Amino acid sequence: MALGATTRARCHKRARVASVSVPEDAFGTARASSARRAHPHRPGPAWWSADLSQLPGVGPATARRAAGIGIGDIGALAEHLPTRYLAYDSARPVSGLADGEEATIRVVLDSIAVVPTRRRGLKIVRARVHDDSGAITAVWFNQAYLAGVLQPGDELMIRGQMKARPQRQVTVKAHEVLGAGSSAGVHTEGLVPVYPATEALPARKLREMVDAARPYVRAAPEILPTWVRARVSLPSRADALMAMHFPRSAREPRSARRRLAFEELLVLQLGLIAVRRHEEFARRAMALPGTGEVTDRVRESLPFTLTAEQQRVSRQIARDLARERPMRRLLQGEVGAGKTVVAALACAQAVEAGAQAAILVPTETLAEQHLRTLDALLAPAGIAPVLITGNVPRAERERREMAVATGTAQVVVGTQALLVGGVRFHRLGLVIVDEQHRFGVEQRQALADQAGDGADAAHLLYMTATPIPRTLALTAYGDLRVSAIRGRPPGRQDIATRWVREEQRDEAYEQVRAELRRGRQAYVICPMVAENEAGTAARSAVEEARRLAEGPFSAFRVGLAHGAQRPEDRRAAMAAFAAGDTDLLVATTVVEVGIDVPNATVMVIEDADRFGLAQLHQLRGRVGRGEHPGSCLVFAEPGAEDGTRRLEALVQTNDGFRLADIDLDIRGEGSIMGLRQSGPTDLRFARLSRDRRSLAQARRIAKVALDRDPRLEHPEHALLADAVRDAFPDMPRLLDA
Ligand code: ADP
Ligand code: MG
Repeated sequence: MALGATTRARCHKRARVASVSVPEDAFGTARASSARRAHPHRPGPAWWSADLSQLPGVGPATARRAAGIGIGDIGALAEHLPTRYLAYDSARPVSGLADGEEATIRVVLDSIAVVPTRRRGLKIVRARVHDDSGAITAVWFNQAYLAGVLQPGDELMIRGQMKARPQRQVTVKAHEVLGAGSSAGVHTEGLVPVYPATEALPARKLREMVDAARPYVRAAPEILPTWVRARVSLPSRADALMAMHFPRSAREPRSARRRLAFEELLVLQLGLIAVRRHEEFARRAMALPGTGEVTDRVRESLPFTLTAEQQRVSRQIARDLARERPMRRLLQGEVGAGKTVVAALACAQAVEAGAQAAILVPTETLAEQHLRTLDALLAPAGIAPVLITGNVPRAERERREMAVATGTAQVVVGTQALLVGGVRFHRLGLVIVDEQHRFGVEQRQALADQAGDGADAAHLLYMTATPIPRTLALTAYGDLRVSAIRGRPPGRQDIATRWVREEQRDEAYEQVRAELRRGRQAYVICPMVAENEAGTAARSAVEEARRLAEGPFSAFRVGLAHGAQRPEDRRAAMAAFAAGDTDLLVATTVVEVGIDVPNATVMVIEDADRFGLAQLHQLRGRVGRGEHPGSCLVFAEPGAEDGTRRLEALVQTNDGFRLADIDLDIRGEGSIMGLRQSGPTDLRFARLSRDRRSLAQARRIAKVALDRDPRLEHPEHALLADAVRDAFPDMPRLLDA
């Protein structure tokens, strides 16, 4: 005990007498790329990547523990930012403190002792301390070891609460010993940073380490070239880091964070745009110019005219396809927005240019559905799409694969089965990937690499029904060009959404029954499959189906579909509902994608607060798909504020893009960043909901930088280039291509 205490005290003091020499030419000459170091990726001079044990007061054991939480060197420590600050003021005279007040004092210790108390196990340390204005008693609870550590004559900073009776004393919340040469409190004075800490490395220790690293932080290497800093007028990197760790005012960290966020976004955009340019310029695709021969026939036989949005996006794609540069485009549009027609026109253009098109979808059900839709759209032009999935019997599948290999099959719809096994294309020119986030990047690439006619890559069109705010799209899919079909096609019914309280349940059921009596159908969506899943009170699909069939909906036919069923049972349940053989389908989120029953007009969602906003919106998109208007009845007890905001937004708007924006505001980008398949998956400093302008600016500047210096080879871009390599470790050759 005593030994531990002494060591601790010594560390305390040593940490205060830091004196470090930092190379003066840090900004000018040091180039990360010129020397291989222990951390070859950290942009900056070697000392910036130096081991933490270089710091006074930090031994090898602490350095190892820091490395365990991702702080492997001095640069990483400098970038480990506080999450908040304790707003302590500067030291006040002891004599001026009022009863009950919390304050910081700076005192000299006169005497110290452990005082026994009547309560078992409780030990109190009392010390007499003084400053120029007077003396006072300081009290610590349960830190008896301090009596052996603090010594008369020690100069202390104390943060604590004043008590005037029965005698003037201060109850200590935090204290620190000031060492030789140090004149400020690290833990007790001013704005005290609070670091994300772990058990292995408490916040206080981190604070002391960062304080010991102060000379390094002050000399932090600048990553941004002068011309960028001139454009965005942000503080230098060193100033920003100093302001984060040692703020002099509450405002300082704000502009500092903006600077670090901008830098992070710039590095990300540089990487993403470099990826895209690499794809576009270093690889060649087959040019698929539209002649109108096939596309016109498809367009003319549509039972409707394309909306302005569809036409705009269609033209963009047509232009992309006509080029020799591989298209890398993401098409966003909610379910029912009319993406499939646009995709069909792209396929038609590929065919009229003499190439094949492949459409990749995540499930068999979706593949079959796409095939039917595309067949209807393309048949007037004499194109018969073929289906390749695991379900197709072997002999038939071989026949179809032969047609693909010889080129008689011009448009192919398939699942993963298209990627595995021996499907060879004759002249693949276009790959369309539906719901792209379900595929790994290698899988997509494998297919695109099959491009025919000597090309290196096929044109790629990704389609997703999950609306993503523009900021997020530019971040998660910054290597793609993004198009969106907003709104729904004319004639599409809006969905009236109502948040129903428990006491209105009977009335809501009557509304559903009325629809069923008119011959319509309804869904009831539950968050869980079976009771006692996770031991919660949420409604389960299995129990709910039984309850509804026996009670409120006993006059109707009730079906059940959920993810724990055997696939054939689930398929049968969905098919029965689609055929109108059941009136009410109780289900989990398995209906989220891949079921299209135009006769279904009502959806009841139970425990809606358990679903995300995007998911709720996706779910309700299952109704109102036919000629009849849809309605969605949402059950949820008002709970947390976030849940309330989500549900209110859902009720207020049918615009998936607006909902996505609101969702981003509520949740932050968090898990959505998992969408991205290359590069860093988490933003450390930036928050997309807050840094929209910085993002737009970063993207503009990234383009300018890469226009001027495509591989970032210029010396003033060296550290930036290192930062990009660091952020995209799986593509180290990106800038070397
Ligand atoms: P998505 O693929 O985006 O989910 P679809 O392309 O399947 O949407 O279109 C949904 C429905 O809307 C289809 O029945 C389609 O025929 C119809 N549709 C598409 N575009 C239009 C339009 N411009 N006018 C009227 N109906 C349209
Ligand atoms: Mg679709």
